[in-house]
Amino acid sequence: MKFPEEVYSSKRFREQGAAVIELIASCMEDSISGKQDKVVELTDPVTAMREVQQWFDRSKLDESKDVARLFSDIYQRAIRLHHPGYLGHQISPPLPEAALASLFSDFLNNGMGVFEMGVAGTAIERFVVKSLAQKMGFPDSADGFLTSGGTLGNLTALLAARRAKATDDIWESGVHQKTALLVSSQAHYCVDRSARIMGWGAEGVVKVPVKQDFTMDVLQLESRLQAARASGLEVIAVVGSACSTATGTFDDLEEIAAFCRRHDLWFHVDGSHGAASVYSKEYASRVKGLHLADSVVMDFHKLLMTPALATAVIFKEGRWAAANFAQKAEYLWDDANHVDEWHDLAKRTFECTKSMIALKVFTILAVHGEQVFDDNVTALYRSARDFGDLLKAAEDFELATFPQSNIVCFRFTPKGDHDLDLLNRKVREEILSTGEFYIVQTILEDRVWLRTTVANPFTGNSHFENLINEIRRIGNANLRD
Ligand SMILES: *Cc1c(COP(=O)(O)O)cnc(C)c1O
Repeated sequence: MKFPEEVYSSKRFREQGAAVIELIASCMEDSISGKQDKVVELTDPVTAMREVQQWFDRSKLDESKDVARLFSDIYQRAIRLHHPGYLGHQISPPLPEAALASLFSDFLNNGMGVFEMGVAGTAIERFVVKSLAQKMGFPDSADGFLTSGGTLGNLTALLAARRAKATDDIWESGVHQKTALLVSSQAHYCVDRSARIMGWGAEGVVKVPVKQDFTMDVLQLESRLQAARASGLEVIAVVGSACSTATGTFDDLEEIAAFCRRHDLWFHVDGSHGAASVYSKEYASRVKGLHLADSVVMDFHKLLMTPALATAVIFKEGRWAAANFAQKAEYLWDDANHVDEWHDLAKRTFECTKSMIALKVFTILAVHGEQVFDDNVTALYRSARDFGDLLKAAEDFELATFPQSNIVCFRFTPKGDHDLDLLNRKVREEILSTGEFYIVQTILEDRVWLRTTVANPFTGNSHFENLINEIRRIGNANLRD
C-alpha cells in the first residue's frame, strides 16, 4: 500500500467498518440468543501464543485486508460478556452505542490533557462528573474527574486524602511520617497497593475485622485507631467498601462517616463496584450515607454497561479534585497555580493524554437517559437475589452471605465428610472446561467459595437452575471417583 494515501484510505475503511459492525452485531445476537453456546473456549497460554502467531501470519498474507476475519478469529478465544452464562468477574456487557462511542473516541484521539486538545471531550467529562456527583447527593460544589479504572481512582483519591490530612507536606518534602489508613479486611487489594505506592509500607494499612456478612465491624474502629496511634502511626483516613469485591456486601457508610467526623479523618468510599446503586430507585439505600464521604470512586464499566475503563473520582469539596498534583509544566499550562481551572484535566489526573472516557457514558445517557442505569442495576440486583433464594433453598449448597448486590458467593456442600475446598475447586475447573458458564472463586475465612457476578440482564432463573444442576452433577461425580 502506498504511504500515506492508501494507508489512510476512507474507501477501505468503509468496507472494513461495515464488515466489523456486522460481525459485532452477529456476535451479540448469537451470545444473547444462546446460538453461541459457549461463554468461553479456554486454552493454555502456549497454545494461545501459537494461535496469535497464526492469525498474524495469515493476516499479513491476506490481500483483501479482511479485518473482520481477523476479529472473528480473535472472538473464538474471547470471553463473551453478552452470553447469559457469563457470571465471572465484575464487568458489564457493553451497550452497542457505548462501543460505537469508543470507536469514535479512538478515531478522534482527542487527548484532553489541556482544554484545547479536546474541547468537547473536556466539557462532556464535566457534564458526566457533575451529574454523577448530584446523583450521589453531593452539593453543587462537588467536583471530580474520570480516570482509568478503580485502582488508579482509589490511589488518586487517597493522595488527596493525604494532602488534606497528613501533617507533613509529603508532596514537597517526601515521606518522613509513618502514615496509615483504616479499611476492612475484605477491601479490594488496590487499597493496600495504594498505601504501599505512597510509601507507607505494610503497616500503612490497618485492617478492621468484618462481621458475619463480611462488612466492616464498625465497633472495632475505635480500638484499631487507638492501637495504630499508640504505635506511632498518623492515621489520616478510613476507607469504606461499597461494596466489597468478594461478597458484594456494603459497609455501613453512615457509621463510618460519623466516626471520621469525630476523629477528623478523611472518609473515602471505594464504590468501584456498588456506588452505581445510586441509580437504582429500589436499591439506592444500599449506599445510604454515600454523600457524607469526602471522596468516592465509581466504575462505569462494572454495573453501567460501559466499556472499560471508565471510572469517576468525586470529591465532596471540589477543590480537592485539583490539589493533588500542584506542579509546574510550562509547556502545557501558563500558570500551574491556577489549580482550580477544571478545564485542563491533566492537572487533576495521573493521565496526561487520556481517551475520551466520558463520551462512552455520555452517549449512553444521551441515547437512553439515566433510566437505563436504574433498569440495569435493579435487574441485576434482583436477579442475584433470585439466585440467592435458589441457593438458600438447596440443601446441598451454602451461601457465604445473602447477596446485597449482584455478587453471589456460595459453595457446594453435599452431606458427608469431604474435602469441600478441593471439591469446589474441581467443580469450577470442570465448569470452565465445558464452557457453558464462566464462574470464579475466592477464599473467605480460609475456605474456597464459588463466586459469581450477575453481570448480564439476560441471565435469569433458568440459567441459575442449570448452573446449580451442573455443579451438583459435577460435584457428585467427583465424590464417586
Ligand atoms: C473492581 C474493584 C476495584 C478495582 O477497579 P478496576 O476498575 O478493576 O481497577 C477496586 N475496588 C473494588 C471494591 C472493586 O470491586
